[in-house]
Amino acid sequence: MLFRQMFDRETCTYTYLIADPNAKTAVLVDPVLEQVERDLQLLKELALTLLYCLETHIHADHITGTDRLRQTTGCQGCVPAGASAACADRHISDGEVLTVGAIAIEAISTPGHTDSHLAYRVNGERLLTGDALFVRGCGRTDFQSGDAGILYDSVTQRLFALPEETVVYPGHDYRGHTCSTIGEEKRWNPRFAGRTRSGFIDFMGQLDLPHPKKMMEAVPANELCGNLAVTA
Ligand code: FE
Repeated sequence: MLFRQMFDRETCTYTYLIADPNAKTAVLVDPVLEQVERDLQLLKELALTLLYCLETHIHADHITGTDRLRQTTGCQGCVPAGASAACADRHISDGEVLTVGAIAIEAISTPGHTDSHLAYRVNGERLLTGDALFVRGCGRTDFQSGDAGILYDSVTQRLFALPEETVVYPGHDYRGHTCSTIGEEKRWNPRFAGRTRSGFIDFMGQLDLPHPKKMMEAVPANELCGNLAVTA
């Protein structure tokens, strides 16, 4: 399996390219509009056919590259079931498996950051956690139908139930981390380790973070799969 973690410096977003090098088919998870040329160039150089753009959730901090990539490559845009995005070609539900060559990508319902957020488990060994779980952190829960108690349940009951050696690949990182494991996060993630559900809800309620700079444009644009021609 070809697995690449790519970074957008402005929004600290990770985009993942996952491909079957034999079948030459690929998927991009959480592409960023400003990085579409980078992603297309890499697909071209590696001679990969893009089958899907997969979103972990409707983002508030950046505009998705899905529509631009779909127009260029003919790939399908996939969003979680329940996400407000009629533009999508496919809505993915909990437990659904997407196949890319010999690679199986299983959706795991992990609401809390948003109400329809999905994590994606790749070949049972790597876990794209989106904004449900970061390395030693987690996504915020104070807008977009976020709910701290529901996020606590998603992380502790769904993600922490996976094998400890599962490698965690987050949707963002703000401190220089790239990946982790479920075992490591269970032990060392300060938001969850040794914290009760009510303690987590209290902690998240006190964060008082400023809204993302691009939120007012990003959410409506992402509900259109990033098609700016429609929003303009
Ligand atoms: Fe997010």
